Amino acid sequence: MKVTKFGGSSMADAGQYRKVKEIIESDPARRVVVVSAAGKRFQDDHKITDLLYLCYSHTKYGVRCDAVFDMVASRYCEIRDELGLELDLETEFAQLKERIDKKKVTREELVSRGEYYSAKLMAAFLDFQFVDAADWVKFNLDGTVDMEQTYQALRELSWIGKGIVTPGFYGVMPDGSIHTFSRGGSDITGSLAAAALDAEVYENWTDVSGILMADPRIVDNPQAIAEVTYDELRELSYSGAQVLHEGSIFPVREKNIPLNIRNTNAPNDPGTIIKERFDECHDPDRFITGITGMKDFSIIALSKKGMSNQVGVLHKVLTVLVRHGISVDYVPNGIDNVSVVIPTEALAPHLYNVLSEIQNEVEPDTLDVYDKIAVVAAVGRKMAFRPGISGKIFAALGEAGINIRMINQGPDELNIIFGVDNRDFKSAIRVLYDSFVNK
Ligand code: ASP
Repeated sequence: MKVTKFGGSSMADAGQYRKVKEIIESDPARRVVVVSAAGKRFQDDHKITDLLYLCYSHTKYGVRCDAVFDMVASRYCEIRDELGLELDLETEFAQLKERIDKKKVTREELVSRGEYYSAKLMAAFLDFQFVDAADWVKFNLDGTVDMEQTYQALRELSWIGKGIVTPGFYGVMPDGSIHTFSRGGSDITGSLAAAALDAEVYENWTDVSGILMADPRIVDNPQAIAEVTYDELRELSYSGAQVLHEGSIFPVREKNIPLNIRNTNAPNDPGTIIKERFDECHDPDRFITGITGMKDFSIIALSKKGMSNQVGVLHKVLTVLVRHGISVDYVPNGIDNVSVVIPTEALAPHLYNVLSEIQNEVEPDTLDVYDKIAVVAAVGRKMAFRPGISGKIFAALGEAGINIRMINQGPDELNIIFGVDNRDFKSAIRVLYDSFVNK
């Protein structure tokens, strides 16, 4: 049995519903469908969830939200009519509107309705059973998911034989009130459903053919990653790649269920498979899984003669940063010097205090700050314990005239991370991509 989750763009209009239906009907194992609220149909369109948040803000400040609410209602009625479904949405919308006007709807309940109506419509269209997320996704008082109760509730509820459609993004608190995940949280619902039902795979259907090897705004038409491990994915998303909602990994990872990212608009593309590990190598000559990075880091660098023989210098530097609640990303060092690499946004508000405290407590010979540094990460499990990869990376950058400001590699050799000037960021990514992928 396969659990499928369709994101907002796959639910945006009747045409997308038809594509979903074709996907579901092409594989009888696809019995469980988790849906997002309708997303954008075109660039300047609105996501239903955004409109619902807007509706709530209007009401909160005593402004009528009729126009915004009508946009939501008409989107769903349009989908229903185009698909020729018979579903009395008008009564439901009228009742909801009445409760909004009387301020009887909480913010979370209101914003969860996008997923709710998507699921109602999709269930009718597929002739699957609608299962409300409020009946199975159970939160603890602290807002974490009560996994045991959630899994059990879905197992007891689901009419898997017939097929079910359930809304993503929300569940219930112990008192029965609706609670939502953070934005993008339908990914988590899908993952929970897959884990609860011990699915053979969790398919996450979106509008790209998998996780791309590099940012398409930087590299033209980057290839999709065929296979990636959870650890690599973590490296990629930590260093800037936008992939899945963070919380969505845990349930399927814990149960060793593969996660497959697929494209509703190109259903024959295999997409990206994410697993704990791969025993067989899909493409043994491809050492780099993905290239990513972020701009705007600062480096605090200090040197002190004889530092290598002194105990506690790094400790003192880090203590100052801890005092200001600043988390350090990388700590490249030399014999008598050490540096810390920190996102500028996190450092800037504390910069002068941090510097004066380091000056007083460490008494370095030199203390410098460099800004406008970009960090680029080449991630790949196949790089580990294989000589020559970093040589190739740095040779390629050297040939392109890109100066490397710092180098860092994690002990698991899953990545090679280096810093360049912000202005070299895009070319560094392109050079790597061209030398390792477009060879
Ligand atoms: N509809 C929600 C959002 O826009 C949740 C989701 O689509 O995953 O954030």
